[in-house]
Amino acid sequence: MLLTVYDTGTQTIMKSSAKPYPHTTIRQRLAVYDPRAVLFEQLQPLLTGAGTTLLSNAIVAVIVAAVMHAPEQAALARSWAVVCIAVVALSAICFWVVKTRFATPERRVAASWIMTTASAARGMTWGAGFMLLMPTASSYEQIMLGWAIAGLMCGGAFSTWSLPAAAAVFAGFAGLGGFLGMVRTPGVGETWMPYAVPVLFVFLMRAVMVSVNVLRQRVLAEKQLLSKNDVISLLLRDFEENASDWLWETDRHGCLQRGADRFARVLELSVDKVAQNSLLKLSEIFCNEESDNTGIREKLLAGDSFSNQIVCFSIGSLDRYLKLSAKPLHDHEGKLSGWHGVASDVTDERLADLKVRKMALFDTLTELPNRAFFYDRLDATLQAKSAIPSWVMYLDLDGFKAVNDTFGHATGDQLLRAVAVRLAGCLPAKGMLARLGGDEFSVICSGVKSRIDDYANRITASLTTPFTVGKHEINIGVSMGVTQVLDGIHCRDELMRRADVALYAAKHRGRGQVRYYDEDLDSSQQRRRDIEAALRVALAQEQFVLHYQPIIEIQTGRTYAYEALLRLQTAELGSVPPDEFIPIAEESGLISDIGDWVIRKACRDATRWPNDVCVAVNVSPLQLQTHRILAVVTSALADSGLQPSRLELELTENALVENVEHTTRILSDLKSLGIRLALDDFGTGYSSLSHLHQFNFDKIKIDRSFVQSFGNRRESAAVVNAVVHLARDLGITMTAEGVETVQHLDAMREAGCDHVQGYLLGRPEALSSEDIQNKREPQKSA
Ligand code: C2E
Ligand code: CA
Ligand code: CA
Repeated sequence: MLLTVYDTGTQTIMKSSAKPYPHTTIRQRLAVYDPRAVLFEQLQPLLTGAGTTLLSNAIVAVIVAAVMHAPEQAALARSWAVVCIAVVALSAICFWVVKTRFATPERRVAASWIMTTASAARGMTWGAGFMLLMPTASSYEQIMLGWAIAGLMCGGAFSTWSLPAAAAVFAGFAGLGGFLGMVRTPGVGETWMPYAVPVLFVFLMRAVMVSVNVLRQRVLAEKQLLSKNDVISLLLRDFEENASDWLWETDRHGCLQRGADRFARVLELSVDKVAQNSLLKLSEIFCNEESDNTGIREKLLAGDSFSNQIVCFSIGSLDRYLKLSAKPLHDHEGKLSGWHGVASDVTDERLADLKVRKMALFDTLTELPNRAFFYDRLDATLQAKSAIPSWVMYLDLDGFKAVNDTFGHATGDQLLRAVAVRLAGCLPAKGMLARLGGDEFSVICSGVKSRIDDYANRITASLTTPFTVGKHEINIGVSMGVTQVLDGIHCRDELMRRADVALYAAKHRGRGQVRYYDEDLDSSQQRRRDIEAALRVALAQEQFVLHYQPIIEIQTGRTYAYEALLRLQTAELGSVPPDEFIPIAEESGLISDIGDWVIRKACRDATRWPNDVCVAVNVSPLQLQTHRILAVVTSALADSGLQPSRLELELTENALVENVEHTTRILSDLKSLGIRLALDDFGTGYSSLSHLHQFNFDKIKIDRSFVQSFGNRRESAAVVNAVVHLARDLGITMTAEGVETVQHLDAMREAGCDHVQGYLLGRPEALSSEDIQNKREPQKSA
């Protein structure tokens, strides 16, 4: 038998390919089953009708005995009746025994033997009676006996029809007795009448066999159906127990009538608990904040069929996901009478799916929402119309890079995790905190501006409290740019741009600042972006120009050197001062490439100048952070053929404060090339005289602010005098910048400066080599 099981979504149907019953005759059918298989069922009608049969037997015996009143017969008839009643009584006992003791399928053969024997005994009794009483009976009695023979044969055969053997022996013995009695009776024996008895017997047996065949067929068909149902339910049970899907059914209240055990097993609840509550109630009781079971609830309430609905049951710390499909059932009046459907446990798939989704939406390091998730929320915030203003905050940690550089990335990661925890602790209700990458975080929150101020202050206070990571105590800070979600803004990019603009401005103000976006910030940043773009173009297309400003020997008036000063001029922006574009070049990382270009160009230009004129080139602190400067200077000198002693690099003091060891090494390597180093803008930065010793400078350029206030501020004069003395002690040359007037010049000469530079002696100009050659004549000297 081949069984196919297929799923139609809501119902599982089992289809048997076996033919209903291939055999045609009862014999063949019985060959398939044990011939005694239906015996038990054959006994049942016999046992049911036994009482009536026996009672009628007894009554007929009494009537016969009463009718036979002729003196020669009366005694025989009564004796016979007594025997007959005794046999009937014995039969009754047999039947009772069979009914109580043998009425089981296992004992059916014995039972049939007992029943057949009892029938044979009664048949023999009646046969004997007919045989003895008939010959001496009156003709009236003979008629009565004739009817009794026929009646008993018919009654007996039909009362025992379901057991043909019993019917045959009863009717056979009774009929035989009747036949012999008739044959022995004068006037009857000669006629055809005795022969009617065997004919009647044959007809009766034929009728009995037909009836019993019908009974057997019916029983076999039932048995076959039952066994088929057994197989189906067996397979169904097996399927339900072992397959991941199972069938379920509820009553009209939605309480599970079938499948509750599987629900209970999967949900780790008791079967009672599952079966006592409706599905609707279960989905409500065991629902967590994240699971959304509203879909199925609506369907159940509306009485609509549903398919593949995922329902989350949250029991304790355990989340279980079931996939349910079902159809409503209706009674004959069309009212909802229940549900039936299929369920499967999809917890594992669902959890895997959730994990993948989590990975796509959450940052693995801090477990905070990531940029993608944050943007989704931002889009939703933009679309939602709320009376309470919403805000986007863009946070950037101050000093995080130094932590990474100093303590390594593992410590940096731990710090980021700790920062995420503190930030989450500050987050207002319904706010969203995300890590956008690196040390950048962002928050969406709502409230009036004063509340956002408070919140920002809380964040600042929280993050400026020192962190303990491993053995290190780490101090960082945070800068924040804040922008409001306004009606006019339709896209998140614009919001993020505004927050970024505000953050940039905050960073520019120094550490730990909070800035709100306004349009002025926007225009200043626009200019910044324009300058950055112009720098890129100028670099790519060599549009930069170097202006040269002379540095004069104060004693001789000879031009000692020219300082190369970079100029950026574009059609759109006009002339952009270096004080504005150099910081932008530094922030955008362009300074290295620009600086390289300046060194090479200055070296090339200087080769066309008189041999005793040097070139001074400004170097950004950022250029010193890698070893690249060494290679660049080396190749610039080699390519141009400039003598190293004619190249002077000017560095400001802020180039010296970070990573001292590395800087010392780079500077000494540079010096070993044979070039000179000048400390620029002395007096404006950290102004540490120790730098002069430490870094082995050849020259100090004292900042123009000292020169210009020399006459009016006593401290300025004191600083200049002190530096001059120190420089002289160390054998370092001293240059005064910003000499604009003759008074400045006199004062510097008097103070003992070696070189002077300033508008008085020459402005920075686009000087060709010819111009420089022509300017050989001594400048205005003292
Ligand atoms: P700096 O190195 O101190 O350069 C001297 C600045 O003082 C120049 O400004 C020059 O024009 C100005 N100056 C010279 N004499 C006088 C004077 O008598 N009075 C006044 N008021 N100013 C005078 P400039 O050209 O605008 O350069 C500004 C700064 O930009 C420079 O200061 C330097 O730090 C930076 N810079 C210029 N070119 C480069 C470069 O190629 N690389 C790097 N890294 N920085 C450069
Ligand atoms: Ca300079
Ligand atoms: Ca300077």
